[in-house]
Amino acid sequence: MTIIEDPLKLISLLKKYKTKHKKMGLVPTMGALHEGHASLFQISAAENDITIASIFVNPIQFNNPVDLEKYPRTLDKDIEILEKAGCNVLFAPSQEVMYPSRPLIKVDFGSLEEIMEGKFRPGHFNGVAIIVAKLFNIVQPDNAYFGQKDLQQYLVIRQMVKDLSFQISIKACPIIREADGLAMSSRNMRLGTETRKIAPKIKEALDLGTKLLLQYPPTLVKEKVKDFVANVSELELEYFEIADSETLAPVNNVKEHKGIALCIAAHLDGVRLIDNILLIS
Ligand code: AMP
Repeated sequence: MTIIEDPLKLISLLKKYKTKHKKMGLVPTMGALHEGHASLFQISAAENDITIASIFVNPIQFNNPVDLEKYPRTLDKDIEILEKAGCNVLFAPSQEVMYPSRPLIKVDFGSLEEIMEGKFRPGHFNGVAIIVAKLFNIVQPDNAYFGQKDLQQYLVIRQMVKDLSFQISIKACPIIREADGLAMSSRNMRLGTETRKIAPKIKEALDLGTKLLLQYPPTLVKEKVKDFVANVSELELEYFEIADSETLAPVNNVKEHKGIALCIAAHLDGVRLIDNILLIS
């Protein structure tokens, strides 16, 4: 695997692949890699000739400085995971090279960011859109891979690609979970031994919501799921939403929607965790 920090060097390497008409897949990450990320590299490696991963902890998408400071950084282990998963190129630029100065552009995704992550992390998707657009312009891949784990992020990127005519296919990849149901996340490694045992309650809340939706209207399901989480004293719920899986509009009547997403964010032991389940009819 070739490791490159300088965008110009990456561009010149990729030019060689492009002239040979190699199909290229990009997987943007913030590092602290786990099997969830590895699944994205593997899918890309199966669908492309060259897989490029990026590792960059993007400061402008963090609205909480403590979260940014505590974000795990494990580059040596990451390189092992990338090589095992069939990644060909790692792009790991410095903050200075990506942001010689703070970008002035502001991106607004309207109704797509009025709830959930967009609502609770003001400016988050502006930061995500800027870094992903920069990576798209540097790499110019054929395909780019994103996890369903960050459903709203996937929808926002898909919208950006449509609105700005990027010639890139955006692919959503399924959520990879631990054996007890907890969605894999770089943030999980910040949980203590005892709180780690509580973390699967987040997925249990989603499963409960899914089951209750068969019987009750969404407003009542939301209340019951919130009660369930409130009974787990260590968990502090930030949101639980039942939304259209394409537009993220709130779901009032299940029958009116083809796809429904149950989405949750909760704090546990000072760590913010998110998860979701998609129900497609
Ligand atoms: P991150 O490094 O957290 O920014 O994640 C990089 C990419 O990996 C994003 O597209 C995430 O949605 C995806 N990802 C993170 N965790 C998982 C998981 N448990 N399963 C599948 N994809 C994931």
